[in-house]
Amino acid sequence: MKIDRRAFSLGTLAAGFGVGTNQVSAGEKKAMSFEVTKTEEEWRTLLTPEQFYVLRKHGTERAHTSPLDKVYSRGVYVCAGCGQELFSSQTKFNSGTGWPSFYAPIDGKIGTSSDRSFFMVRTEVHCSRCGGHLGHVFNDGPKPTGLRYCINGVSLNFQEVKKQDLDADS
Ligand code: FE
Repeated sequence: MKIDRRAFSLGTLAAGFGVGTNQVSAGEKKAMSFEVTKTEEEWRTLLTPEQFYVLRKHGTERAHTSPLDKVYSRGVYVCAGCGQELFSSQTKFNSGTGWPSFYAPIDGKIGTSSDRSFFMVRTEVHCSRCGGHLGHVFNDGPKPTGLRYCINGVSLNFQEVKKQDLDADS
């Protein structure tokens, strides 16, 4: 890898998050085409450095750093990259891991790839619309699916459903 200034600053950022960058795992993902595609420079201007690191560089935020980890109000979690709705608050649960966790995504909104980094084989999950990396899915989740979608809060934006909206529903 060519060591340029950008690689160095990304490495510094990665160290700040306590996890190294991942160069290889996104290979299969990169071969796929997404409805929303932007250049690296475009993403860099649209996203915060933390969002860019997680969504576009397959980074991981430090556990217990996302305010969304402790959010349980009613609403929808959308992709911080493209705004696609990804998870409903109805599937959110407290996994105790320090990352926002869900037992199911909204149908069709999540793609997966095989992640062989860190001497493990894990299932990576990303936004099906922009390919932004979200986290991983594991088989130790609660009923009804038994799945645990372990998601970086920085890759999500929460849109709370206000009480007046709920009243309008009923
Ligand atoms: Fe997206």
